[in-house]
Amino acid sequence: CGIVGYVGGQSALDVVVAGLKRLEYRGYDSAGVAVLADGGLASARKAGKLVNLEKVLVEQPLPSGPAGIGHTRWATHGGPTDANAHPHLDNSGRVAVVHNGIIENFAALRAELAGRGHHLGSETDTEAVSHLLAEAFSACGDLAEAMRQVCRRLEGAFTLVAVHADEPDVVVGARRNSPLVVGVGDGEAFLASDVAAFIAHTRAAIELGQDQVVELRRDGGSEGGREGGRVGVSVTDFSGAP
Ligand code: GLU
Repeated sequence: CGIVGYVGGQSALDVVVAGLKRLEYRGYDSAGVAVLADGGLASARKAGKLVNLEKVLVEQPLPSGPAGIGHTRWATHGGPTDANAHPHLDNSGRVAVVHNGIIENFAALRAELAGRGHHLGSETDTEAVSHLLAEAFSACGDLAEAMRQVCRRLEGAFTLVAVHADEPDVVVGARRNSPLVVGVGDGEAFLASDVAAFIAHTRAAIELGQDQVVELRRDGGSEGGREGGRVGVSVTDFSGAP
């Protein structure tokens, strides 16, 4: 339903939660976030309104880091429970994915993953993507390339945004038949299903094209200031021959 991603000098968690709030008008049944921090990935998700998630974040605070993603869910596959809320992680807990839309061939993908020993803990069409991304990343070591490979295997409509703990300064997005907007700021960049999520930060927005992947990559500037780093934005196609 609502998707937000961020890389930059601000606390990704704060930017992502504020972005989700600006998308609240769309209606949703669950919410969740994931941030990359301290070499790992931390996430929280909760059924119900955003305030339920915010309560969890007060009780069990997530570490602060420069890259993060968030989601408000309108359930299509699997009920509106905590376990079905996004982000969905792979079994290593190093990959997190949020998704809008419907992966039509999810049943075949889930069966294939189960056959390779993956444990799927939700009833969603989305979770297959996190496991496939983890496998592809193990083979190629590049999240954008892993996303391109996985998207070629998906049928249906999707906006996907993902992070991997092994690429702590990167957020990757992709889309087919569902919108994704990229916002470019000063030393920071945003992804969202709707420009309303980041319009308070930047007006420089580009719509990602059909069957494209976008990578936001932050270089240097670990001091935390907005001026401290540069964020590169690169767009590639995932359709066609690999
Ligand atoms: N199909 C996914 C699910 O049910 C995503 C739903 C959405 O667009 O929020 O979890």
